[in-house]
Amino acid sequence: MTQRPLHPRTRAVHHGIRRSQYGEMAEALFLTQGFAYDSAEQAEGRFQKVGPDEFIYARYGNPTSRMFEDRMASLEGTEDAFATASGMAAVNGALMAMVRPGDRVVSARQLFGSCLYVLDILARFGVDVVMVDGTDLDAWRAAVTPGTRLCFFETLSNPTLEVMDIQGIARIAHDAGALVVADNVFATPVFSRAVEQGADVVVYSTTKHVDGGGRALGGIICGTRQFVREVAEPYLKHTGGAISPFNAWIMLNGLTTMDLRVRAMADSALAVATALDGAGVRTIYPGLAAHPQHDLAMRQMGTGGTMIAFDLGSKEAAFAALNRLALVSISNNLGDAKSIATHPATTTHQRLSDADRATLGIGPGLIRLSVGLEHPDDLIADLLGAIG
Ligand SMILES: *Cc1c(COP(=O)(O)O)cnc(C)c1O
Repeated sequence: MTQRPLHPRTRAVHHGIRRSQYGEMAEALFLTQGFAYDSAEQAEGRFQKVGPDEFIYARYGNPTSRMFEDRMASLEGTEDAFATASGMAAVNGALMAMVRPGDRVVSARQLFGSCLYVLDILARFGVDVVMVDGTDLDAWRAAVTPGTRLCFFETLSNPTLEVMDIQGIARIAHDAGALVVADNVFATPVFSRAVEQGADVVVYSTTKHVDGGGRALGGIICGTRQFVREVAEPYLKHTGGAISPFNAWIMLNGLTTMDLRVRAMADSALAVATALDGAGVRTIYPGLAAHPQHDLAMRQMGTGGTMIAFDLGSKEAAFAALNRLALVSISNNLGDAKSIATHPATTTHQRLSDADRATLGIGPGLIRLSVGLEHPDDLIADLLGAIG
């Protein structure tokens, strides 16, 4: 056997598998909440200290969930990972587990609606939450005072596709002694080099590209073994944020094809964005040379990703186009094999005030498009026909 490290695509198929005494080929679904002990002494011992492949209760860990955690940690390049019930359980768990009243948290303001809500909860419990324009390194520099606990941002923002400079923000954070927590959903684990670029903790909603078929909720927190097992896990295991073993099993299956799917989706996204742009539609896609952070996106991810936003100018025009779509679904998931169009102003970001939406660039005519696995020519025909 060669010592050469296996490619991520290979590890996404094999890494972390645990086989039972039957030697089953597919990852086994251990649909069990608990584990029987040989003796009372063994139970006592396990509650004192769990070994690396020992389990107590599925809220703490489960063999199927652990296979998923090991595989994700391997792909992300972290020592360990904790799988959660949803992406929001991962965001909430990573942040809540870390902070105390009076801690300072600096966050990019370009965030998914539920991520903004979690920061509001932190503020309610006495955390000093400061929001900055995540694309402005000077704003980070001004806000990240010495002793800041953590910096949080979506590496590629939902839905306006602004690209945050992970390396630049990490340098500022680390100089101040702060940790960097990156929500990397839009970048996907396939294009992620977040840890290499300085992120300390990377969270994903695996509901998106990891599942890839819009079936199950899931999330993951990737980080050092110390952070995952001594900071994140105690919070999550006592507050009930663990993933269902069934969902972890779905995610393991999703991972085996994720690399192929996500690369095909990104290729199609570039074709679709180019066609929309060519038709005179105001198109936001980091893979287009005109995107303000195009160079950064290429350095950081090597692609523009699988998501596009475009602006039709008014809610009326956006709704008319959405209602004329025949192939693309109106829904609010992303990373699905089926292409999905979303009107953020009236759905995912409805909770925000008009002023906050305007600051974030979420206009009434903005449509977010998750490019799926259909043939790009069919998507382009559907979209251009609907835009009219
Ligand atoms: C979807 C999403 C989440 C939340 O994930 P769920 O699995 O729906 O809880 C968090 N952050 C970003 C950027 C997302 O797109």
